[in-house]
Amino acid sequence: MTASSPASRPPVVAGIELGGTKCIAMLGSGPDDIQDEVRVPTTTPGETLAALEAVLDRWSGFAAVGIASFGPVSVDRAASDWGSITTTPKPGWADTPIAPQLAARYRVPIGFHTDVVGAALGEGAYGAAMGLADHAYMTVGTGIGVGLVAGGAPVAGMTHQELGHLRPVRVKGDDWPGICPFHGACVEGLASGPAIVARTGTPAPDLPVDDPAWDLVAHAIAQACAAVVLTGVPRRIVIGGGVMVGTPHLFPRVRRMLHDSLAGYLVTAELAELDSYVVPPRLGGQAGPLGALVLAHRALAG
Ligand code: ZN
Repeated sequence: MTASSPASRPPVVAGIELGGTKCIAMLGSGPDDIQDEVRVPTTTPGETLAALEAVLDRWSGFAAVGIASFGPVSVDRAASDWGSITTTPKPGWADTPIAPQLAARYRVPIGFHTDVVGAALGEGAYGAAMGLADHAYMTVGTGIGVGLVAGGAPVAGMTHQELGHLRPVRVKGDDWPGICPFHGACVEGLASGPAIVARTGTPAPDLPVDDPAWDLVAHAIAQACAAVVLTGVPRRIVIGGGVMVGTPHLFPRVRRMLHDSLAGYLVTAELAELDSYVVPPRLGGQAGPLGALVLAHRALAG
């Protein structure tokens, strides 16, 4: 019997990445055994969930379903609203019970977490943090979020992390107010894709490498990284998302500013090698749906 024989593979499960503009549903046991992958546009909850159910109805034999959803979501299993999207500003989607609806229909274990935790679990199982039980994934795109994994499990208690809304130390002389409707100049309000457009008038992919705004963006991201490091958990931080794609010059800036922010206080073997501590993802757009498979496997394992 070889390592790739069906008997030794994890069970076939269904994973759903529920994104703000599109959903990806994946059937398989892992990246080497993807049996189907379907994209569904995110429109209204009724339309989108019906389309996803039509896909799941067509598939058979999945042992569990994992859902990695845009949020905020309720991830507290003891809460009455577990498995729901809660207070999202996305029209029509607030208070949508995603996981309970699928659990009632399919009667299999359901794993449910944020999209960024899904990406963290995907990169941890199959990508840039493979082999590490303690790691973090930060997305810098339309929004900024962090998924923290400790001992192989997502860190969550009352709710999930919201470190994108941390208010960072500002660069001296920079008093731009930021665009977060709640906090103004939080990390997301300063360094997300929409923040970069608001500040410079230019989308991130078109902003020249030498534009001074990049150092301000990197500084805010580095402050969030410093906070993530100071949790004491991650042995590596993977940073993905639309702003990081095509801007490899951001990584050295973020590493340097993270080093400056930590100021030598923490000394670990991992932090001594920032080039391998703050890294780009390996799975690209597959991190979310593969992470949803991991959520399904975790639900199956109880
Ligand atoms: Zn904010």
